[in-house]
Amino acid sequence: MRDAACVGEDPELFFPLIERDGEPQVARARAVCRRCRVLLACRRWAVEQGEDVGIWGATTAAQRRALRRELFGGPAGRTTGRTVDARRE
Ligand code: SF4
Repeated sequence: MRDAACVGEDPELFFPLIERDGEPQVARARAVCRRCRVLLACRRWAVEQGEDVGIWGATTAAQRRALRRELFGGPAGRTTGRTVDARRE
């Protein structure tokens, strides 16, 4: 947590009302994530936990659902017992 670039940022930045590519707030949140030293660990956690709201590891919920489908198949719900090789940016 101490290495997270979002420490000190407004948490609302990471929970935009409209969460899709091209939205200015999404772009600002991603800009913070992209300078974060724990981006991949954060993304991996969010994918594995089925975090379905907000920007985590520079990804939207829709991107994480796609990652879960690609990595684990089936419905995009929570996953357990498997790890994510977070290869995407
Ligand atoms: S990658 Fe995760 S920990 Fe880092 S700034 Fe983004 S939301 Fe915060």
